[in-house]
Amino acid sequence: MDFMDRMQFVIESEHFQQLLDALQEEGYQVIGPTARDGAILYEDIFSVSDFPEGWTDEQDNGHYRLKPRSDQAWFGYTTGPQSWKNHLHPPKAQLWQAQRENGNFNILPNTDEVPRYAFIGVRSCELHAIAIQDNVFLNGAFVEPIYQKRREGLFVVAVNCGQAGGTCFCASMDTGPAVTSGYDLALTEMLEEEHHFFIVEVGTERGDAILQQVTHREASEAEVNRARKTVEAVAQHMGRQMDTTGLKEKLFESYEHPHWEAVAARCMTCGNCTMVCPTCFCVTVEDTTDLAGEHAERNRVWDSCFTMDFSYIHGGSVRYSPKARYRQWLTHKLAAWHEQFGTSGCVGCGRCITWCPVGIDLTAEVEAL
Ligand code: SF4
Ligand code: SF4
Repeated sequence: MDFMDRMQFVIESEHFQQLLDALQEEGYQVIGPTARDGAILYEDIFSVSDFPEGWTDEQDNGHYRLKPRSDQAWFGYTTGPQSWKNHLHPPKAQLWQAQRENGNFNILPNTDEVPRYAFIGVRSCELHAIAIQDNVFLNGAFVEPIYQKRREGLFVVAVNCGQAGGTCFCASMDTGPAVTSGYDLALTEMLEEEHHFFIVEVGTERGDAILQQVTHREASEAEVNRARKTVEAVAQHMGRQMDTTGLKEKLFESYEHPHWEAVAARCMTCGNCTMVCPTCFCVTVEDTTDLAGEHAERNRVWDSCFTMDFSYIHGGSVRYSPKARYRQWLTHKLAAWHEQFGTSGCVGCGRCITWCPVGIDLTAEVEAL
């Protein structure tokens, strides 16, 4: 059933704080958007005053700037440098630790806490990215326990996009801009002259239980229609597009294409694109000890297929050239991912385009290939 076909409700902006309070009272750590350090970041949210009211972003190849909006929207930006994987698949996670006692090393319990998160403001492309990581971490032969524990308790308040970013192409990847599944509550932000309100759709029973703690009313048909038109218009204004017809086969056939050299001449193999990507999941492990040799830890940290060490096998790196590493990343993301996990590894969020320091744009590289 299309999300707009279900019963919908209205929360007035002056009652939105009740939603945050209800989630906190239920024991959730509420994470949402806030403007800090010149970007929209996903951080702890306690009050609606933490939202980036009146801010939007301007994005292009290697370019991101916050700028004021002409209205007081709270969710009037697109995707920022962080994705929700920072919380579900954290950049650093302890695997084990050990302490020397009486000449022996004793393995101690893992002290990493498992938070129960409520995410506020999850976009459709980001829900698709979470679904992709669910598939990778939970649905294969081995379940990844750190992700599983964080994911199990998650409460999702999604937001339909009211505008497309300069590097967005979710419409091409069929991952947005309308939220269709994977949420407990879904919002569409509406600003009509002085009237600031949210159209709300309930996705789960626990979403309904939270909504019952917030002042709300049934939405009128006219309000629902206006919200639908707002979201539909976004699909017509994507900053980028990518033709995915036969893309997997074309990329597999392009292994020796000269364009890989042209990209490699610009690529600094910094790995930014993999850090900001909401679906990239590769990790390595690091062991550390204190200077006295009394305490040791093994931590899992994000890694990237753009590092030399990532493909190090006895005697050297398999992908020693920038060409080999960029080709690996793009071909895995858009082609081999289908064979491995049954979907594309790209949700069209545009982060890798915006945060590439030299402005490499995968939609343009695919077009050139
Ligand atoms: S494509 Fe851009 S972001 Fe990715 S490794 Fe190369 S220079 Fe860095
Ligand atoms: S490859 Fe780029 S556009 Fe696609 S999901 Fe990753 S960061 Fe977003």
